[in-house]
Amino acid sequence: MILHNLTDLRNNDLPLRLEELPVPEPGNDELLLKVSACGVCHTELDEIEGRTLPPHFPVILGHQVVGSVVESGKGTSNYKTGQRVGVAWIFSSCGKCQFCLSGNENLCPEFMATGRDRNGGYAEYMTVPEKFVHPIPDIFTDEQAAPLLCAGAIGYRSLKLTGNCTSPDNLPNWGGDPWGRALGLTGFGASAHLVLKIVRHKYPNLKVYVFARNKEERRFAIELGAVWAGDTTDKCPEKLDAIIDTTPVWKPVVEGLKKLKPGGRLVINAIRKENVDKEYLLNIEYPIHLWMEKEIKSVANVALNDVREFLQLASEIPIIPEIQVYPLEDANIALLKLKRQQIRGAKVLKI
Ligand SMILES: [Zn+2]
Ligand SMILES: [Zn+2]
Repeated sequence: MILHNLTDLRNNDLPLRLEELPVPEPGNDELLLKVSACGVCHTELDEIEGRTLPPHFPVILGHQVVGSVVESGKGTSNYKTGQRVGVAWIFSSCGKCQFCLSGNENLCPEFMATGRDRNGGYAEYMTVPEKFVHPIPDIFTDEQAAPLLCAGAIGYRSLKLTGNCTSPDNLPNWGGDPWGRALGLTGFGASAHLVLKIVRHKYPNLKVYVFARNKEERRFAIELGAVWAGDTTDKCPEKLDAIIDTTPVWKPVVEGLKKLKPGGRLVINAIRKENVDKEYLLNIEYPIHLWMEKEIKSVANVALNDVREFLQLASEIPIIPEIQVYPLEDANIALLKLKRQQIRGAKVLKI
């Protein structure tokens, strides 16, 4: 399913086109995968509508890819033919810079994204550097594993970034302190609901407050163990140590800053913000929203370790995502449903 150019999904229901292409050849250090499942992500909407621009067209989208190795290029040695692997948003990085060498390949200036800078998984086959594939734990089916590769891994990274961690390899140490820590989640889609599951497992005492416009989402949050769920502007019963914002807009950022404790941190887990409510930022009052060492931090992409650690953790907990499966040729339908916010359950293409 191929994207030929940018388009506006409000008046184009068919952004992708089903076409036959030759099977790609693996280059040096690359594997050829036969794709079996690929998750559908909000980032694909950003690509189609130009908020995160693919550098060339046509391009094959899709960065939550599960498949099996069918051919290994020169210089590869770690995977056998038939082995099941996954590919996440991180397709490759330089391997030599300060960021790559400190385990933050996500910040590398040569970071390449799967299904944007290189062809992704809305296809029967794809090639990928061997270093950037991830073994999939046996507990998951292909379709269940796919959404974990993006929403889950990025959610995991955003949870890491809520703490003042000096090492990117550790979750914050929020286990047993006496202060009663509290975490907020604004927006409650795929990524946030996985964060809540991790928190319940890793930090049974950490209280989670969820802010979502949709009543259904709020009910779901309580079901999964949030102590409270309300609308974005509802008064939160207590001040929060950190907030993870997964919404595409600005109002939750401004409202979130008000809810932080001194020294609190708001982590924005969104690849781009939409401009629809940008003027809401003018409501920021320094003494209310930022004074007392409050911080805002974004989450950029995922590093290799985020994906590996999260897959491991998800198999231990276990986190089995709710999914809705569509055939590859119905990718346009799945994307439009996502656009219209019908988000209960992650959408996955079966190939
Ligand atoms: Zn994604
Ligand atoms: Zn690098």
